[in-house]
Amino acid sequence: METQNISNNQNIPYKVRLSRRARRLRISVGCENGVVVTLPWGFNPAWADKFVREKRRWILKSLDYMKRFAGRTPLRATRREYLARKGEALALARNKVLQWNGIYGFNYRRISVKNQKTRWGSCSKKGNLNFNYKIIHLPEPLVDYLVVHELCHLREMNHSRNFWELVARAIPNYKILRRELKKFGTTA
Ligand SMILES: [Zn+2]
Repeated sequence: METQNISNNQNIPYKVRLSRRARRLRISVGCENGVVVTLPWGFNPAWADKFVREKRRWILKSLDYMKRFAGRTPLRATRREYLARKGEALALARNKVLQWNGIYGFNYRRISVKNQKTRWGSCSKKGNLNFNYKIIHLPEPLVDYLVVHELCHLREMNHSRNFWELVARAIPNYKILRRELKKFGTTA
């Protein structure tokens, strides 16, 4: 980080950070730092303003989400609920996979939902995607993150830098969402 200042774009206050390591413009929305635009070194700062304007809807949605879900407790569920709502969960998973795979175009085999205690999702070596049925209780940005996360495992079966770069193509603020998901008690 080289410099930092506060700008304002249509009532969205944001900070600009110049980074020598960044290769492209990035926006993040966090509980502590608010909206931060990271600008690669040598980029025109005016581009940050344009970028914020373009991403305005996404930013407002993220800010709203931060407010609503701060401090929630982990989920509890019953087998009865699982049986009653697994169809709903499967439909949600299928829709989201279809939506986000529009960006990636990966090949996958089966999508399933399970009642699990410790995982939100997984991706098998054969290309099967599995999700915890409790995704029906998650805020939508977290379902989006989770689905993108598992989709990207179709290409990268690890959490390497390449993997996270792949995730960031669809979910630029994945770091925050990953942290938020952990608050709900299980991992991905
Ligand atoms: Zn993973």
